[in-house]
Amino acid sequence: TAVAEQTVRPAVREFVSGTKQLLIGGQWVNAASGRTFPTFDPATGEKITEVAHGAAEDVDRAVAAARRAFEDGPWSRTTPSERQRLIWRIGDLLLERAEQFAQLEALDNGKSVAVAQGVDVAWAADIFHYYAGWATKIEGRTITPSVPWIPGSQWHAYTLREPVGVCAQIIPWNFPLVMAAFKLAPALAAGNTVILKPAEQTPLTALLLGELFCEAGFPDGVVNILTGFGDAGAALAAHDDVDKVAFTGSTEVGKKIVDAAKGNLKKVSLELGGKSPNIVFADADLEAAIPGSANAWLFNHGQCCVAGTRLFVEESIFEEFTQGVAEFASQVKIGPGLDPTTQLGPLVSQEQLDRVTSYLRQGIADGARALTGGGRHGDSGYYVEPTVLVDVRDDMSVVREEIFGPVVAAIPFSAEEGLAAAANNTEYGLAAGIWTRDISRAHRVAKQIKAGSVWVNCYNGFDTAIPFGGYKQSGWGRELGAEAIDLYTQTKAVNVAL
Ligand code: ADP
Repeated sequence: TAVAEQTVRPAVREFVSGTKQLLIGGQWVNAASGRTFPTFDPATGEKITEVAHGAAEDVDRAVAAARRAFEDGPWSRTTPSERQRLIWRIGDLLLERAEQFAQLEALDNGKSVAVAQGVDVAWAADIFHYYAGWATKIEGRTITPSVPWIPGSQWHAYTLREPVGVCAQIIPWNFPLVMAAFKLAPALAAGNTVILKPAEQTPLTALLLGELFCEAGFPDGVVNILTGFGDAGAALAAHDDVDKVAFTGSTEVGKKIVDAAKGNLKKVSLELGGKSPNIVFADADLEAAIPGSANAWLFNHGQCCVAGTRLFVEESIFEEFTQGVAEFASQVKIGPGLDPTTQLGPLVSQEQLDRVTSYLRQGIADGARALTGGGRHGDSGYYVEPTVLVDVRDDMSVVREEIFGPVVAAIPFSAEEGLAAAANNTEYGLAAGIWTRDISRAHRVAKQIKAGSVWVNCYNGFDTAIPFGGYKQSGWGRELGAEAIDLYTQTKAVNVAL
């Protein structure tokens, strides 16, 4: 099989040697239907293993388990410091098994094992550690009301920050472990119970994480992991006994989630697509801006919702700069994720390969010119050449739509005036980059950009403490930082007449 030929740890080989099950109510179980589905190695297209195909009946079981754990305990009776200790333990266990998680992620997703370990696993552990700390720091306020229309009245009021309840969390395939951490850590810190549905393309690290929750001693039913396809996600989003759904994925599916959630008006948070502008002024430090602007769309093979895929470059340096970015891109080392020297791995699936290459064909048919790249790389595995497109127009699909591959469209601009309008000319508003040595201009432009994250003289700058989320059709709500606690708590005001 794909795995036997690779140099993976025995623990990884063993993990994928049998059919993977669902985690429901603290038990590993088959799907009610008994069905399974395969997950593939994107570097070869070969099957890694079979995974339980969860569907509506399994969703019912998982929601019932999460409801029991929430209402009857023990999760509802667990103290903040116990939650803190348990969540912290997940961060520790992740670091102890960093290599195993990284290899499994590289195998299932295609990303470089070095990145998987240095970024994905390290960051996921940090997210659990960070939110472990929050568990003991979620506090309400005391308020002294004046109630002026009842003279002489004396009141005392305070707020309680309570968990929302049973949370469904649906995640994508681009950062499988990190996305699981984004969702689980704040929800658990705030005292919720969870049903996590990993993406069908990359279910494995979430399942391995499920083992850590059992090992760490989380009570049964607090974390349920349900592998399956969009129909399982849809059943979760529509379920009447789910109090909140958190989703990361495409804007198209995000709209379906909103629709499905209407029945019981469950709370919804969404982190969706992007077509982010990365703006380079002529006065920028080009030695930093060239690799920075290349990595803005090359990182994770372009499979980042924040990818800086519209590269705005000031006219006077346009030629030189785009050549520089193209040269950088043409030199990245393409290869399988399990090779630690790989910089650009395969896309996640045959479907994504077809999608990205069809955008490239369309862009070139529309008149765009590739300074480098332009199509598939090799003829096995799902590899795409890093591609820099110039001679683009605003109406081209390569400029308007999220491609989710290593492709950038470079657009010249002549002045700061009008630039923000061009950068904001998208239905999305997730992120933006600004490269300049003029500090006033950096802040001026940052203020005008309609996006949830703006990076100045850097790109992809993330930290667990910094809130993240989208303007416009890039989403609802903010994850990470203190803001994620807001997503997973609701406020109760208690008013006392003295
Ligand atoms: P991408 O475009 O990144 O593949 P999708 O938005 O299609 O992302 O999928 C992200 C997650 O949403 C996956 O876990 C997928 O199974 C799930 N999903 C797909 N369709 C639906 C749906 N209609 N309702 C709920 N979840 C869905």
